[in-house]
Amino acid sequence: MNAFFEWMYTRSPLAAAGVLLVENVVLFAITLVVGYVASAWFARRHVTPPPDPLDRREVVFATTTVILNWLVTCVGWILWRRGVIVIRRDTGWYAWLDVVVLLLVMDFAMYVLHRVVHLPWFYAIHQLHHRYDRPRALDLYVLHPLENLAFGALWLFVVVVHPWSILGMSVYLAINLGSGTLGHLGVEPFPAWWSRVPLLRQLGTSTFHAQHHRDIQHNFGFYTLLWDRLFGTLTQGYDDNFGREIARTELSDKHEAMLSP
Ligand SMILES: [Zn+2]
Ligand SMILES: [Zn+2]
Repeated sequence: MNAFFEWMYTRSPLAAAGVLLVENVVLFAITLVVGYVASAWFARRHVTPPPDPLDRREVVFATTTVILNWLVTCVGWILWRRGVIVIRRDTGWYAWLDVVVLLLVMDFAMYVLHRVVHLPWFYAIHQLHHRYDRPRALDLYVLHPLENLAFGALWLFVVVVHPWSILGMSVYLAINLGSGTLGHLGVEPFPAWWSRVPLLRQLGTSTFHAQHHRDIQHNFGFYTLLWDRLFGTLTQGYDDNFGREIARTELSDKHEAMLSP
């Protein structure tokens, strides 16, 4: 990993941009492939009805998100080359601690940001993601450009203010992609007992985020359920209904009527 890291540091801006574009396209492709395979494999454990056929809007906004993610990583590369972002190369326990800290810090910051985009003033932006109440993996990328840039800016801010390790950041970003893909599968890969095991029941699941798509007033967290439990925004009966198909709430029905042309 360190050899690749050195190599990236010495690339020209154009070459670095090319590598980062390939990286972002590959991550997007991994999401689609994992999503397709998991949805087929766990088809009997669906938590939402099957999605509508793919529409043009989903493809356009998902493509836009890949391009914006690429621009954010390019900005990150420039800041790294200028010494604004400092990245450590250690691989010991301190580097692994970064993974835990990043997960907790980003989980809380994203919970707050997610609550903010559900406020009436900002919901005009976030409602695009909520058009898809029976999500597929692709919908992880169906975000309004402003919302996507806000999450990108949050990530850049977090990596500017502290020198994280490359190992910690890489593992965190892999978990971030895995968690996002999981939340939009529409099926629950985890076994029914998952929500009864003390530590596991605090982790984000497919059921957890699918419930947010079906009921826009609950489940604003991402990697963990900690903040939703703490602030009382977890879906009632989450543990009992884990892995079961989720009914839409009345509010979500009204919401869809509002969005219909
Ligand atoms: Zn979602
Ligand atoms: Zn939302």
